[in-house]
Amino acid sequence: MFKISLYQSKFIFANFGVYNTTKQHNFLKDKDLHILQNKITEARQILVTSHRNPDGDAIGSILSLYHFLKPLGKKINLAVPDDYPEFLKWLPGTDRVCIYENQRQKVDAVIQESDLIFALDYNDFSRTDQMESVLKASEAFKVLIDHHPYPNANQFDLLFSEVNYSSTAEIMFSILTRLAFSAAIDKDCATALYAGIMTDTGSFSYSVNRPELFETVASLVRIGVDAERVNRNIYDTYSESRLRLLGFSLSERMRVIPEYATAYIYLSQEDMKRFNYRDGDAEGLVNYGLSIKGINLSVLMKERDGVVRLSLRSKEGFSVNEFARENFDGGGHEKAAGANSYASLQDTIRKFESLLPKYRKQLNSLSE
Ligand code: MN
Repeated sequence: MFKISLYQSKFIFANFGVYNTTKQHNFLKDKDLHILQNKITEARQILVTSHRNPDGDAIGSILSLYHFLKPLGKKINLAVPDDYPEFLKWLPGTDRVCIYENQRQKVDAVIQESDLIFALDYNDFSRTDQMESVLKASEAFKVLIDHHPYPNANQFDLLFSEVNYSSTAEIMFSILTRLAFSAAIDKDCATALYAGIMTDTGSFSYSVNRPELFETVASLVRIGVDAERVNRNIYDTYSESRLRLLGFSLSERMRVIPEYATAYIYLSQEDMKRFNYRDGDAEGLVNYGLSIKGINLSVLMKERDGVVRLSLRSKEGFSVNEFARENFDGGGHEKAAGANSYASLQDTIRKFESLLPKYRKQLNSLSE
């Protein structure tokens, strides 16, 4: 059923219960989808949440659910812990997203009133900062949809967790096409999903070795997504100072250690001030290290308000998730992770460099 519906035009309806569960979708159980269907039908007020520092996948995923559920006539609220980058604010429906930091009372009330809560693109309520305690205390039915490893199963009533998917947005597509509502994936919903998949794969450069991903993307374009426009609106939005920060980072703040197939960039608070740093200005910066031939680990260290924020990326055979968990306060995916260090920038760099010899073998496991 799923395969056939991919080739149907414009809207994709899924006949719930008719399709066969295939191996690659084995996290999508008929039983679970049935529960989800019923909970959505019963719900009067629905809250859709995502993680702190919301990225394209976080915002794309919550907006897709909003556009999908809108025709059902329910009260739907969207909330994230803190603000998200400007380059996502053109996406249809972003005016509906509440920022908890700015609208705490309103969101607290919404959390209490909601009977169904979605947690999208995160695996633990601790990823929502100050929203955590209120979300945990809520009596609502809680649904997790996510692609990060180690979901905290105790916190949720229903889990759709699959690490092999490129993005939560891609999982959302699989779920939404299997729900039997009169609702369909319309152009706004598809655009949000496309933005999520595109940003979480670095414009289709990593986590893209599953052919199903491109089938999903083809479906989204068929529904009417203007893929060129999404790309332009998200990537061609640099300010002059952001582009100059990029140049400065690469020429003055990048160290390459061929012995450990590692490159890292460090930015002090002062550096960022000099280039009039705004949230999102370092987005994607960490990926440049990996574009050097033979480099397997790339790290960005950003000093801000007494914390050093690390972004880590790898190509092959080295789990940045494990590295971030074992050595810093962090985690994420096998090839993309984030972490915090509470030491100074200099001490963080020192610690990072001193850890590398231990991982020499994995770091040098890159195949041609
Ligand atoms: Mn994601």
